[in-house]
Amino acid sequence: MQLLKNKVMQEGIVLSDNVLKVDSFLNHQMDPVLMKEVGREFSRRFSHEPITKILTIESSGIAPAIMTALELEVPMIFARKHKSLTLRDHILVEKVYSFTKQETNEITVSKKFLSSDDHVLIIDDFLANGEAAFGLARIVEQIGAKVAGIGIVIEKSFQPGGRLLQEAGYQVESLVRIAALDNGCVTFAEEVIS
Ligand code: 5GP
Repeated sequence: MQLLKNKVMQEGIVLSDNVLKVDSFLNHQMDPVLMKEVGREFSRRFSHEPITKILTIESSGIAPAIMTALELEVPMIFARKHKSLTLRDHILVEKVYSFTKQETNEITVSKKFLSSDDHVLIIDDFLANGEAAFGLARIVEQIGAKVAGIGIVIEKSFQPGGRLLQEAGYQVESLVRIAALDNGCVTFAEEVIS
């Protein structure tokens, strides 16, 4: 997605060989016009799927997820990272190792908002090792619902998440793929037009 590539080139800050900071449009300040386009693009790429819900993880997944949900006119749910006081009988829980915080969090979703009939599109801001996306997929599968696909705003394709998710049988659509972050520079991977 060219618009997103331009934004990454203009505003992305390479923090290390494996971390990109995009806090001016996605991770802190958010660009609603860009997010609207992101939502349109995900809805186009998954238009063949009978999606009934969007699932993401707080907090940076929420903007692209809500814009996709708006396009598809379905509800959006975000998994919470912090322990809920709700009775555990009423929640779906999975452990997820956080790439940025380097700690394991329990992510939770209320059973009220997912059912076995759902076709769930998972959306997240970044894909690195795939921990967050796999955790969200396990939440969906725990309740007996179907993962319709996984939409990622920025995939770092030099890390294994994308390959592992595809090997597990999920359709992964990444709007921008980064091949390397060496020497403070962003190198994009070849774009596959779908
Ligand atoms: P994974 O679970 O695939 O290993 O990592 C994805 C999660 O870690 C995303 O939810 C995202 O919040 C965070 N993340 C991974 N890599 C980066 C990065 O380079 N920059 C930022 N800002 N977040 C990242």
